Amino acid sequence: MTDTAETRARRLLRRATAGVPEDDYPVTHIADLPARHARATDWPGWVPDAVLAAVTATGVDRPWEHQVEAASTAWSGHNVVVATGTSSGKSLAYQLPVLSRLATDGRATALYLSPTKALAGDQLRSVSDMDIPGVRPARYDGDTPQSERGWVRDHARWVFTNPDMLHRGILPAHPRWARFFRGLSYVVVDECHGYRGVFGSHVALLLRRLRRIARRYGADPVFVLASATTAEPAEFAGRLLGADCVAVTDDASPHGARTVALWEPPLLGELAGENDAPVRRSAGAEAARILAELVIEGARTLAFVRSRRGAELTALGAQRILAEVAPGLADKVAAYRAGYLPEERRALESALLDGELLGVATTNALELGVDISGLDAVVIAGYPGTLASFWQQSGRAGRAGDDALVVFVARDDPLDTYLAHHPKALLERPVEAAVLDPTNPYVLAPHLACAAAESALTVKELDDFGGDAARSVLDGLVADSLLRRRPSGWYWTSRDRPHSDVDIRGSGVEQVAVVEADTSRLLGTVDGAAACGTVHPGAVYLHRGESYVVDELDLEQGIAFVHAEDPEWSTSARDVVDIEILDTVEKRTYGGVTVNLGYVAVTSRVVGYLRRLPSGEVLDHVPLDLPEQVLHTRAVWYTIAEPLLCGADEGPGTRTGVEPARVPGALHAAEHAAIGLLPLFATCDRWDIGGVSTAVHADTGEATVFVHDGHPGGAGFADRGYAAFVPWLTATRDAVISCECPAGCPSCVQSPKCGNGNEPLDKAGAVAVLDLVLAAVGEAAAAHDHSDAHAAEDSTGTT
Ligand SMILES: [Zn+2]
Ligand SMILES: [Zn+2]
Repeated sequence: MTDTAETRARRLLRRATAGVPEDDYPVTHIADLPARHARATDWPGWVPDAVLAAVTATGVDRPWEHQVEAASTAWSGHNVVVATGTSSGKSLAYQLPVLSRLATDGRATALYLSPTKALAGDQLRSVSDMDIPGVRPARYDGDTPQSERGWVRDHARWVFTNPDMLHRGILPAHPRWARFFRGLSYVVVDECHGYRGVFGSHVALLLRRLRRIARRYGADPVFVLASATTAEPAEFAGRLLGADCVAVTDDASPHGARTVALWEPPLLGELAGENDAPVRRSAGAEAARILAELVIEGARTLAFVRSRRGAELTALGAQRILAEVAPGLADKVAAYRAGYLPEERRALESALLDGELLGVATTNALELGVDISGLDAVVIAGYPGTLASFWQQSGRAGRAGDDALVVFVARDDPLDTYLAHHPKALLERPVEAAVLDPTNPYVLAPHLACAAAESALTVKELDDFGGDAARSVLDGLVADSLLRRRPSGWYWTSRDRPHSDVDIRGSGVEQVAVVEADTSRLLGTVDGAAACGTVHPGAVYLHRGESYVVDELDLEQGIAFVHAEDPEWSTSARDVVDIEILDTVEKRTYGGVTVNLGYVAVTSRVVGYLRRLPSGEVLDHVPLDLPEQVLHTRAVWYTIAEPLLCGADEGPGTRTGVEPARVPGALHAAEHAAIGLLPLFATCDRWDIGGVSTAVHADTGEATVFVHDGHPGGAGFADRGYAAFVPWLTATRDAVISCECPAGCPSCVQSPKCGNGNEPLDKAGAVAVLDLVLAAVGEAAAAHDHSDAHAAEDSTGTT
């Protein structure tokens, strides 16, 4: 190949854009990412022969450098997190030290934790297949028959389980696991980047409980964590473990070159959304066309679509196009369904490998536990929520020695719009740090109760659980007579253990059970505080990719009854919200602008819901009559003094104010866009947070915009917004300006869950408000630097 020859990826991209009219050209940016070359090294000397023979028999000749670095760090007794890309062989990094220990010390045991049963099953199979004498790996989860559980407790040396089972099944029964805990040498925490937000806070406390119980049996296990690439992995792992952790991040596995194209579907003239806003062609429909073109080129392609229904529509759309232009290829495209059974996943892997399938549309569920890489192209329809997921998905494309294409198709959402126009934010930014907060009292209280029930808590142990935060939560548990304080520590008072009442995937408040009415089958639970918004009558409820419709919500009983149904629309609840400031924890003042972090009470009432087609078209608004809900959580808010807002306070520069009549719409639009952009800085979904804006707020007396966590006690999202305030609002402003719609649309300032029907919204006013706030903060910061410099001069002058 000569230098001037078109790469395969560029040729694929040209094909995907063939026939697109010049003035609707959707590609906003193209970037070429270079290939990464493999760096292999020798096996470490400490690996025993039996383990070496078993590992090399799986086809690994020589390990990559990062695998050995992580394995040797763990072997030398240090906690380690290996944070590298998809298919970089993270399993070997923990298999080497664990198997070596089990092979050389007959009493040693190990624990493996993964967020899903499917992944644990895969990892167990790969260890079992090595068949190393004496290792005795076994799974222990909800599917393990009672008749086998005794054997696992008494004899298994490497137990594969999940956080739920550790919490409910293993820790509360620790005396029966005495042999296992005495020998516990290693704990593997796989896919640990998934432990963020409230779930992450639960797992962080669960791991502290695990370390505490292990210590009671004289064990001090080394933790080996595997993560997708993430910012500050050592800090994140340290927060998750509550102990120091070394990070290994220099990926030495090979990867082919990739061309990444950012793609923004055009606005359509003929359809109208809410308040007659323009509608873009949907990301799913665009992905279907791209998928079809790539399949015609013979490219093995995976398309990631946000919902299962969306994935099915995308596959169907591609099949329709192919049936017309290349009928022989239509059956080479499929949607990847469910995918929880290992056989199904294996079948998909081999179909894509041997060319039986060329194009597959799937949901993000494929991220876990499917071994597919080295594809020719990946289409990502809609930002998957985090950069970690984006790189995980795009990492499926490209193999050593061959280049590949990645197409990111923006949805009609402010964050997607921003990314399509700011390629650096997508391609050159370090992956966001995962956020969790193990000191959230709503999460801490049930874990301290569980810990005390497992074994009385001593004063010395409180530091592991957050010190002062733990002490005040314990005082509350004692006051509620759940715990008893004795000189030797805190004791659980009841006969019944608290574990079964604690849902580690929930927020620590009362849960509403989602039950299929016909079969009485429990499908799942939702937070009581969120129930009116997610399982109101008429809501479309998705459970593991299956669709249900809610018939009845009984808040008193805590049950939502549903039936299986897959309508073509989705639903989004509308609520009216009021917010009260309970306590301001931090505050910064910049001229007429203040930025605050603190505790708030959010009172909301769901008043109806919208039914929306996949195209974005709104069918109708259905009114509802539901009671008020109160949420106590954390929020970040800014206020703007009236003279500044209305332009009377002309500072330096040429800023102008916002006319009083336009203020509500301007603040409201600025609030919506800010909610859409916070996930760029905190690992949350826009559904994890909410907002309120008002021209005069009762507690501040000024124009105020709030963005609050959606979970009781908060999960750290508002805190991230406070810490990253300027870059966050700058990105918000840029996203609004980037959208070419005339007066606001879902890609910039409309919100899919607005309680006020997206009215009033003032797009230009939002830009003016954000400019005012950023200018005030910027000037104050400059003045501050200036006065600092003066202070420094003064102090040198006097000495
Ligand atoms: Zn717009
Ligand atoms: Zn709104």
